[in-house]
Amino acid sequence: MRSEGFVLTIDGPAGSGKSTTAKETAKALGFDYLDTGAMYRAITLKFIESGISLHDRKGIARVLRSARIAMNWRHGNLEVLLDGCDVTREIRTQRVSACVSPVSAIHVVRKRMVLEQRRIAQGRNLVCEGRDIGSVVFPNADLKVFLECDIEERTRRREKELYDNGLHPGRNRVRANLIERDRIDSSRDISPLRRVPDAVLIDTTMLTIREQVAVVCSLALAKLRKKDRA
Ligand code: C5P
Repeated sequence: MRSEGFVLTIDGPAGSGKSTTAKETAKALGFDYLDTGAMYRAITLKFIESGISLHDRKGIARVLRSARIAMNWRHGNLEVLLDGCDVTREIRTQRVSACVSPVSAIHVVRKRMVLEQRRIAQGRNLVCEGRDIGSVVFPNADLKVFLECDIEERTRRREKELYDNGLHPGRNRVRANLIERDRIDSSRDISPLRRVPDAVLIDTTMLTIREQVAVVCSLALAKLRKKDRA
């Protein structure tokens, strides 16, 4: 494929399979992959460590100015660095999951993250996943996908993912966190989670990761061929 700067967006609620689908699709297409949730998680960790209140506007601006978030692609995996330290694992802990949605609802936080995401995407073929990627970050994306999934299946998947990473918060806590994050993410004033009309809806409840990836890849390949012919 000749296309350059092809952007594929994947949005959806927590645990719908966005990260794995985005990562595997990027690998299959030879694209880069950006997990924007990891960026919001990293800045949340910085807020937690700074101990500032989320009502302290000056403190928030100060933390945002000083935070250095870097994403490295290493052997197909994304490594997240906060102020030079590897926080890839720490950003998945329950203490970050519990605070990330309130932090992500802050206007100046989103402004900074969106700028970063657009800068990272420049000149790349990219699969980018999150909540507002097709609606706000890349409204002119070449292909937009929105994943949906039943809450029990999402809980099961997220619990397994945490378990595989040595974390055992328990099923009820995992489910409660998913529901609470969905509530905040969908009802916030700025960039709420929503499916835009031009996004292809895929319900992943009954699909395996392989099947999800196959569907997204075939949609992307069709768009890439069309773009190359144009
Ligand atoms: O994707 P993940 O579940 O790791 O995202 C963590 C949180 O980051 C979400 O619950 C949401 O509050 C926030 N987020 C966001 N916008 C994005 C990506 C993530 O608000 N584009």
